[in-house]
Amino acid sequence: MTLLSLEGVTKRFGAATALDALSLDIGAGEFFALLGGSGSGKSTLLRIVAGFEMPDEGRVSLRGADITRLPPPARDVAMMFQSYALFPHLSVADNIAYGLRRAGEGRAATSTRVAELVALLGLAGLEARRPRQLSGGQQQRVALARALARRPPLLLLDEPLAALDSGLRERTGLELRALQRRLGASFVMVTHDQAEALSLADRVAVLEGGRIAQVAPPRELYERPATRSVARFLGAANVLEAGRLKLSAASAAPAYALRPERIRLASAAPEANGTEARVTDLAFRGGDALLLAQVEGGPLLRVVLPAGMRLPEAGARIFLEWDEAALAPLQS
Ligand code: ADP
Ligand code: MG
Repeated sequence: MTLLSLEGVTKRFGAATALDALSLDIGAGEFFALLGGSGSGKSTLLRIVAGFEMPDEGRVSLRGADITRLPPPARDVAMMFQSYALFPHLSVADNIAYGLRRAGEGRAATSTRVAELVALLGLAGLEARRPRQLSGGQQQRVALARALARRPPLLLLDEPLAALDSGLRERTGLELRALQRRLGASFVMVTHDQAEALSLADRVAVLEGGRIAQVAPPRELYERPATRSVARFLGAANVLEAGRLKLSAASAAPAYALRPERIRLASAAPEANGTEARVTDLAFRGGDALLLAQVEGGPLLRVVLPAGMRLPEAGARIFLEWDEAALAPLQS
């Protein structure tokens, strides 16, 4: 069932088009990630859904009702900002209670709900502290509690993990997803980190220049990127131009994506779907090894080899091969 729907949403800032006739449906109970580089329009999209920005064209609807022109408090949408935007002079409990009080919730109901959220987010004992007396991870959880206070069916999160250090980021991401599953609300998370999007979301939209380049479940996006730019953005995929290497593929395409772990060392130059190359770099990474191999007059290939196998030396001439099925056709 569709919860949120954007139809032909365009937003311009002067001469810059931040969103370009963008359409997107997000399901009830879905964990959705918006992935894109800096300036691709991710924050603008969230701000339009939250009501902080009005689109120049197009329509935003929630459960089928047009909310395009509604002010933020009149929408059933909560937003957690990248900077958390906690009130520095208010305690943890008052930060969490803020939206409830503004909505005219009674004293007893407010304190019950605050206690529930404190328990849900593991903030017990911190209720009287001010934001500056909390760690980054604790501040993030207070911001989350505040956003969830009114049980929104849709929560928008702008780079919710960006301010955390890397160890905490991974664990907090998994906690975020567990929380989303438990609440059954839809979460739309903005990120520029492809691993974060792929590991947490049910579906991922890749944004480029205010348009959606591809929207798909993580595995599909990873295995079958639609375009060269998506393949490159998803990181580390080789993009093989048709005609530059001898490829035999089931379908004709201008180019193909080839995952580095789908390439093997071979003992001789294969007829097709393989090449001779020179090792330019080699990095042992613990679980596997990354090899960079330059094809003469062709691409620099990234190859991931299983740990434990005998690795060629830098400078060595090698043969590489892959299965036809490993070639993912790109549309453009
Ligand atoms: P992202 O969050 O993906 O980094 P944004 O949505 O913030 O991207 O911005 C998309 C584009 O719109 C960028 O080119 C940015 O410079 C422009 N933009 C965003 N907000 C404003 C604004 N308030 N005024 C002018 N330009 C803006
Ligand atoms: Mg942004």
